[in-house]
Amino acid sequence: MTNGDIDVFAQTDDIAAILSQHGLPPETLVLVDNIQSWCQEQGIDEPNPFRAAKTLFLSGPPHALILLPKVISRDMVESVTGAVMFHDFEVIPRLNQNDRDFLRHLVLHEIAHILSRDRGESECDVWASKELGKL
Ligand SMILES: [Zn+2]
Repeated sequence: MTNGDIDVFAQTDDIAAILSQHGLPPETLVLVDNIQSWCQEQGIDEPNPFRAAKTLFLSGPPHALILLPKVISRDMVESVTGAVMFHDFEVIPRLNQNDRDFLRHLVLHEIAHILSRDRGESECDVWASKELGKL
């Protein structure tokens, strides 16, 4: 961990609570050292070495997994907020200033994919921001 990194492992209980609020079991969350290398080991294609979150659908249960790195670097944060900015500018200061909110938004975005598989990236970001506002 270097300065500015987010310790995801320390937020496990908070993430589990958010999963539960949306009807997803705690086993949905899988913390890995690195998403790309984890995927390579499983024979899953993942071109982005800085991927900060990924959802995998299974025949279940659980019916989906959310992969998160145990530590999210500042570069990963910036890459995510850079993408969110296109869909929802207003939430950006909150994500940049509050690591817990950043992580919650990241998880909510993946939950949005799970709850409605045909939702696109921008819809998932907007939904995540709305749900973050309720927490
Ligand atoms: Zn997405």
